[in-house]
Formats: sequence, structure tokens, C-alpha cells
Amino acid sequence: MFALLRDLGQEIHPYIIYIFIGTPIAVPITLLAVRLGRVVAPGWRTAFYALPLVMPPLTYAVTLLLFGSCRMSVDGSLLPLNIVCRLGGYLGSFVLPLVVLSVLAFVYRIVLDSGRLISHLRRLEEVTDADLLSRFRELAERSGITAPRLLVAQSDYPAAHAVSIIRPGVIVTRGLLDKLEAPELDAVLAHELSHIRRRDTLFTLMLGLLSALQAFNPFAGLMMKLALGEREKVCDAEAARITGDPLSLASGLLKIAQGRTLQTAESAAAGPVAERIAAVIDPGNYDKRNHLWLLLIAVAITVVLLLAIC
Ligand SMILES: [Zn+2]
Repeated sequence: MFALLRDLGQEIHPYIIYIFIGTPIAVPITLLAVRLGRVVAPGWRTAFYALPLVMPPLTYAVTLLLFGSCRMSVDGSLLPLNIVCRLGGYLGSFVLPLVVLSVLAFVYRIVLDSGRLISHLRRLEEVTDADLLSRFRELAERSGITAPRLLVAQSDYPAAHAVSIIRPGVIVTRGLLDKLEAPELDAVLAHELSHIRRRDTLFTLMLGLLSALQAFNPFAGLMMKLALGEREKVCDAEAARITGDPLSLASGLLKIAQGRTLQTAESAAAGPVAERIAAVIDPGNYDKRNHLWLLLIAVAITVVLLLAIC
């Protein structure tokens, strides 16, 4: 078993080195592009932050498909690469089990979570409040989707979730229905509908898998966190636009943060929540510029540098 892992580790050593070198190349390019291009729109930021997660494994896979293998091999003629390569072969034996374990853990967690979610969903009741349902349907219509199920969980913590892989639905807790005023509730529901419309569950799963494939890479987790944080702001902006009431969304977010951590308003409105509230209240920060060219340039520079090491 160990011998097999060692051999496999030797076999995939360019991958290990590729990710180790590839992400540290892609991360500064990404951050620099975001900074220099003054990219503030959360949708564009999501795309930029996903770049270091996607590009190294993708370029590696494409190179393998096109050229059969990387130049990086122990009998390569370039001395520095030779050293890097030997190190890769050595590290590969240790890192491969970690990658395999990380991907297995990811799949296991998804299966376990889905099972739990399905049995949890069966026990939830559909919302029967006619007024709330008709508001929910109208919000869905304005979001451009058919209204999913609206379910209520018997929990005192104010929370809302969107589920969208098998059958879309929005779950709200009793605590949320009790603590939020109608306009705040509408704004939070519009946020969850936006997650469904954008198929964010799938997006999160994809990023999770990419991040699991790079388990040994500290940048991967960080980039995933940044990308998902921006995704929340995308849905906030859409909710504010659909309801036309950003202030209610801001106070709804604050109440949820307060209820979740049982904190005072001041300490609840710290960190990511504060950032989200600030962005909701002052959407003037978000420009409407198209950053496609900048993104393509960042991708091109990353690919060229990645190909240079492979
Ligand atoms: Zn959200």
C-alpha cells in the first residue's frame, strides 16, 4: 500500500510542484489586477478570486492532454527544474495521500450533508401564511425564477438558507420570522432567491472540490473564502435592487448576525457582516465597468508563467 502510494506520488509529482508554484504565481497576479484595475464590483471580484483556484489545475490538465506530460522530469536538462522536480517527487509521496484523503473527506462530507439535508427537509413544514407566501411569490417573479418551496424550521436562531441541488427551496427559521419585520424578511428572502437563481450551491461545490484537490496549498482555502464572500455581496446587491429597500436588508443582516452570535449590535456588525452592510448601504462603491479584458489579461499572464514552469 505504501509502495503504491510512493509510486503514485512520484508519478504525479509535477502536479504537486505545479500547484505549489502555480498558486503563488496566480495569487499575486490576481490581487494586483484587482488592486490596479480598481475592481470593486463583487461579481467581477468573485471571478478574479476564483482564478488562482481554477488556473493551476486546469493548465496542468490541459498541458497533460496536449503534450502528454510536463517537461518537468528528473532527466530534464534544466538544472533548477531538476532540483524542483526531485523535491516534487519527494514531496509527492507525502502530499498525495493528503490530497486523496482531502478529496475523499470532501465527497464524504457532501454525501453526509446531503443525506442530513434531505431527511431534514422531509421534517420541515411548508409555510402556510398566505400573506408571506404571496410576497415570496412576487419576489421570485421579480427575480425571474419560478417560486421554489418556502419551508420553516423550528429553531429560535434567525437564519435563512437556500437549497438548490435537487429541488430548490428556501428554508427560514421560526426565529427569523419572529425577529424580522416584513420588509427585512422580504430583503433576506430576495437574497436567498438570488442564490437559487445563480445556482450558488453548485458554484460552492465546484470551488470546494478545487480547493480539496489543492489541500496542501494554504492559498486555496483563502481564495475560496474570498470568492464566496464576494458571492454574498452579489446576492445582497440583487436583493437590494429587487426590493428597492437596501436599508431593510442591512438591518435584516444585522439582526441575523446578532441572533446567531447572541452579541450586541456593535460586535455583531464587525468583520464580513460590517463589510456587507456597508456595501448594501452605499452601492455607489460598485461601478458598472466591464473588467473582462483585465480578467483575460490576468488569465493570459498566469497561463504563460504556468507554462514556463511546466
Ligand atoms: Zn447568502
